[in-house]
Amino acid sequence: MALSIAAIELHPAVGAWFTGRDLSGRDPAVGQAGNLAHRRPHLPAELAAARREVARHIGQPADRWHLMRQVHGTEVALVDARTPVGAELRDVDAAVTLEVDRPLVVQVADCVPVLFAGPRTIGVAHAGRAGVYLDVVSATVDALTRLGDPPETIRAVIGPAIGGCCYEVPAQLQDQVTSRVPVARATTTWGTPSLDLPAAVVAQLTAAGVTDVDTGQTACTHGDHRWFSHRRDPTSGRQVGIVVRTGSATGVAA
Ligand SMILES: [Zn+2]
Repeated sequence: MALSIAAIELHPAVGAWFTGRDLSGRDPAVGQAGNLAHRRPHLPAELAAARREVARHIGQPADRWHLMRQVHGTEVALVDARTPVGAELRDVDAAVTLEVDRPLVVQVADCVPVLFAGPRTIGVAHAGRAGVYLDVVSATVDALTRLGDPPETIRAVIGPAIGGCCYEVPAQLQDQVTSRVPVARATTTWGTPSLDLPAAVVAQLTAAGVTDVDTGQTACTHGDHRWFSHRRDPTSGRQVGIVVRTGSATGVAA
């Protein structure tokens, strides 16, 4: 396989990555290779292969990963010493922890994945249209703050998501979201109302006090076949963002 795995520098004692599709197949425009959504095993063998490849690359066995059963809400799971290793986090769209060797995983295909790290904490968030409207990002920052890392000590990185260039929505829906996050108002390349969710997430992070935001990983999942896009293909797989505190300064090596 040739799964894309980008390492992100988030904090010296933290490993962080965004995955993408495996385009080594014959037709890069289609295919599930690289899918990491365990609840969408269209091709179980490919899912298992992708999980093995990522696990080997990041040095964290897949049975240790904490995946979220995401529901487009604002609940934040706390992973602590009592949480079974590798447990699925149910009905949440964000997770935080102080623990080492507890990889937190967000699954996306157009929604915005956000990874967080502070001096003591790490976190992940999943922000789609509903998550932006409900501000799951500030709920995550609040949870990190309660664990001891105030917003000004937190660094956040935003991964590949559908852009305002492509995320067409009805005008009424655009009005609803932009009534809360005005910078989300955008226009598609073909001239229709759209939402810029990555810009909205940056604004929400800033409003929550997180000013150290890396947007260098953003790219439009819909327009770029290197990523899964639910809007482009409703049967799409999912890429992931992963963050793990390693307890040493070697976690960002890749
Ligand atoms: Zn686009």
